Amino acid sequence: MSLSSKHQTIDVGGSPLHVPEGINYSCSGCGRCCYGVAVPMTEEDYDRVSAIDFSKDLPQFDWSKQYRRLSEKESANTNYTHAIKSTSDGHCPFLINKLCHIHGKYGEEVKPLICGLFPYSFNRTPSGIYLTVSFRSNAVLGNVGTPLTEQMDTLKEKLRVYQTVYDEGNIIWDKVKLATDKPLTWNEYLELETRLIDAFVEGDNTPIKDRIYAGSNILFKDLPAPKASTSTVPNKMDKAFLAGLYALYLPHDPKLKNKDVHFNGIKFAAELWLKPPVFKYGKKSYTFEALTDFPWTQDPAIEDLLTRFIYSRIFGKWYFGGGFAQLSVIAGYHHLAMLLALARLHATAAAIDRGASSVSMLDIMQTVRQLDEKIGVAVLDGYSAALWELVLFSPNRIHRILDRCFN
Ligand code: SF4
Repeated sequence: MSLSSKHQTIDVGGSPLHVPEGINYSCSGCGRCCYGVAVPMTEEDYDRVSAIDFSKDLPQFDWSKQYRRLSEKESANTNYTHAIKSTSDGHCPFLINKLCHIHGKYGEEVKPLICGLFPYSFNRTPSGIYLTVSFRSNAVLGNVGTPLTEQMDTLKEKLRVYQTVYDEGNIIWDKVKLATDKPLTWNEYLELETRLIDAFVEGDNTPIKDRIYAGSNILFKDLPAPKASTSTVPNKMDKAFLAGLYALYLPHDPKLKNKDVHFNGIKFAAELWLKPPVFKYGKKSYTFEALTDFPWTQDPAIEDLLTRFIYSRIFGKWYFGGGFAQLSVIAGYHHLAMLLALARLHATAAAIDRGASSVSMLDIMQTVRQLDEKIGVAVLDGYSAALWELVLFSPNRIHRILDRCFN
């Protein structure tokens, strides 16, 4: 089944649950779900887990310091109160040889609730709950397993867990806007999204950049045509903005890999002007030109992964409004286009770093996983949101960058 704006909807206790077609997942035991974030726990999770003395089984950790209380901001709109601190390598301390120590020794029911939820991801909106899956999982990256549309009983159970942990009405969707000064009703948004998804997924053989442009054209259909750019070459601001996003989403410093992403608008804007736009990988720095001169791999499997990644953000409504930093639909969609460019740059740097002559599927998988982790924990302050609206409104900017990245 291929991707489209069509999806299946079931009723779960009075709430419509919308399930995408063409997305598959079955647990492959990769253990990736247990990487990259401090595992949040409800009070009951914390009481149950912290009551066990792990010091004999796992003496490498100081269990008096392995849990922390969440701040008010971190636990807002959830029933989480604590978190398990990650190890210095960024994984949950209970993950031993890719297996969960709690699950193996004490039983599945002892694990924190969130562990049974992952990689399923629910987004509560005015028209029901939308399901997607996290691209941190190897099976999701490879689209391997049972179609989500054939997992309805599992989904009902996962949704029950989600509803236990996340408060109702925790997401604000009342400020939906196409652009900063163009409010949209929710129904208007849904109609637009159908056309956007159809334009983006249509034509398997059409290069992804052209499908991104087709989606952007849909969003501008009823707006005055933006002034055409006189240049097709990425300018200083294009490269500086990309380099700023790259440094935050794809940091080369391993210590930053497991940290949340906080966009400080003033700092971000200052760095755009003061710092040269470089892209770091390992111990090396690359220019935008060096990375985009490296040939891009025209591989259908890579296009498929990038398409599913972007599609999932759109279907799940994780790219605008209450789904992402209260951005407008246009800024949110163009941010997704920027993620594609970042994926190209980072995967290319990875290929160069290992001495390869072309970008491989593994380079892309590693990059998409990291992007998925980081955008899930990205927080924009008010200045950042205003800056993004300004920079990301321009379809010309998206054309200049993607034309160069996927030439
Ligand atoms: S408690 Fe177990 S399942 Fe949960 S994140 Fe840690 S290792 Fe993974």
